[in-house]
Parts: sequence; C-alpha cells; structure tokens
Amino acid sequence: MKTKESEQEVTILANKEQKPILIAGPCSIETRESLFATAEQLQNSEIDYFRAGAWKPRTRPDQFEGVGSIGLKWLKEIKTVYGLKTCTEVANFKHVYEALRNDIDMIWIGARTTSNPFAVQEIAESLSGVDIPVWIKNPVNPDLNLWIGAIERFKKAGHKQIGAIHRGFSMYHHDEFRNPPKWQIPIDLKKEIPDLSIIVDPSHITGNKLRVSEVSQLALDLNFDGLMVEVHHNPNEAWSDSKQQITPMEFIEMVRNLRLPVTNNYDQRIQKELQTYRSEIDIIDNELLSLFHSRMQVVDQIGSFKKKHNLSILQHDRWCELLQRSIDAGNRKGLSKRFVERVFKAIHQESINHQSKIIRN
Ligand code: PEP
Ligand code: MN
Repeated sequence: MKTKESEQEVTILANKEQKPILIAGPCSIETRESLFATAEQLQNSEIDYFRAGAWKPRTRPDQFEGVGSIGLKWLKEIKTVYGLKTCTEVANFKHVYEALRNDIDMIWIGARTTSNPFAVQEIAESLSGVDIPVWIKNPVNPDLNLWIGAIERFKKAGHKQIGAIHRGFSMYHHDEFRNPPKWQIPIDLKKEIPDLSIIVDPSHITGNKLRVSEVSQLALDLNFDGLMVEVHHNPNEAWSDSKQQITPMEFIEMVRNLRLPVTNNYDQRIQKELQTYRSEIDIIDNELLSLFHSRMQVVDQIGSFKKKHNLSILQHDRWCELLQRSIDAGNRKGLSKRFVERVFKAIHQESINHQSKIIRN
C-alpha cells in the first residue's frame, strides 16, 4: 500500500503500518444486542473502523429504514466498550448533527446521496470546520464527473480528509453482480485525483457473500487502498442486505488470506522481466490500433460504395452473422462472449459513425 503524506492536498489517513484500510460492520443498526454481538466478535480483528447504518436508503418503501439516532447512541457505547472507531452514513444536515453529537469518528456519503448535488452541498457545509474523515461513495449511476463533483464540494468547503469508496454501479439488466464494478471508472478517478485514497466495498458490488473475498482480493490486486465490508453476526437474519453480509469469523479468515501485492519491486531482475512483458504488450497494442485503422479504411470504402448505390448503412443480418461468428471464434481462443461482444459492438459503432459521416457529406 502506498504511503500517504499528510501535506497532500486531499488525503485520507491510511493507518500507520500502511496496510489496507479496513472498515467492517453490519449494513444497518438493528437492535442494541445485535450491534454488540457483531462488534464483540470484531473487536480483535484489526479493523480501522466499525461501520453501521442508522438511516437506510431503501429502494422501495415498507422495508426496514433504520433505527435512526438511537442507533448512534449504541455506536457510541461500542466505542467505549470495545475501543472501536465508529462510522456511519449521513444523507442530510440532521444526520450530520446526530453523528457528531454521538462522537462518530468518520462518516460516509451513500451512493444515492452522491448522485444529489443539493444533498452533498448541504452535508459539506454542515460539516464545515469539523475535521472528520469523509468517505464518498460513487454515485449509483456510472458518472465519474458526478463523483468528482461531490469530492470537489467537500474540498471547497475546506475539508482535507476525503476518501472515495467504490461500490459499483446500479444497472437495469441483471449482471453477475448486484452493482457491476466497471473498474475503469475508479481507475480514472485515481488518474484525475492521484492523491485520493480509494477503497472498495465488495459487499455492495457483489451482493453475494460467496464472492466478497474474491472481489476483495481483486481490489487489492488493482492497488486500491482498502475495503469496506458488511459483516453481521447472523447474516441470514439481517434486516437489510442479508445476502451479501458475511460473519465476523468469515471476515477475519478472509483478511488473513488476503494477499498484499507490492506496487513496485526494485529487484533489477524482476524489473527487467516485467519490462520485457510490457514491451510485448505495447507492441501488440500498437498492432491492434493499426488493424483498427486498416479496418476503418475499408469501412470508408464501403461507405462510399453504399452511398453510390443508395444502400442502407446497417445490414442487420450481416451484423448478426458477423457478431456470432466472432463470438464463436473468440470462444475457441478462450475469450469470453461478453468481451468479444463488447469489443465488436464498439468496433461496429465506430464503423457506423464513419459511414454516416461519409453518407452525410
Ligand atoms: C451501505 O453501505 O449500507 C449502503 C447503503 O451503501 P450504498 O450507498 O453503497 O448503497
Ligand atoms: Mn448495505
């Protein structure tokens, strides 16, 4: 894990040993007993923060929407009894007030709130002058600018301890995950704000307790700075997100088995070998681009031909046949259907753009 320097413009405090930041705890605060049961089992787990939501943003009404402020009182007790730092989600001015009143150590902004600039502005202003870490989840929709906008609102309100949480993006069609991660978006965020710490929430990404550890490992392999995991003493009986919560024991076991990759190994021999592979990749990428270029030249010729003979750009049967043939060929080469489909749809779109330009002119 990378070292975070305190004088950086925006930084969340990585823990001193520079290991990944670990946040764990139940999706929601249910009863005092249930909260204590989870906290007790997590007390020696080396987590940096114990999480629990007092107000739950539910998609449909008539579901459990959180116990509210009373839950924060229980979180405050947890702090004293187990010495755990606490964090909770806030979505408006009142939540901020209640969180601060109950000595919450860190707050996070939920995905639905990040999508709403009015709410983000209200929270940023209500926290003005309060030096508390704020972690901002990505908005539910895959919009990098909206995420950056929320971070900027906190920066402009004078906050320095800001981090981002990647929790995947809501999709209409069912995917293998509840909120598909679209890793390129948090990677682009890192490019836009290099000093920002970004942690990953594998629970809301997967929506599936069986896949939490796999996505946690991937997050570390992709060099993200930590994890926020939903952990409940009895997941099957949880009042919200029961399918994705793991037990404290499962969490502890998972953390024990996580491999921490290093970003750089200064051993000359390893560097040299890595460089050889990278050069090979660079050459192949260049070849790919040349091939795309050649393809588009032929596409342009067909465009002129279609214009001359008044043929439509899209020949549906031909497109379906081409796509299926490519999927089959890709499959024989060990490439997933999903990947081949995406690549060919992108190529096809670019071809349509080229041809429509030719036909317009
Ligand atoms: C949560 O962390 O419990 C939560 C509601 O998450 P999100 O905002 O990512 O849906
Ligand atoms: Mn949840």
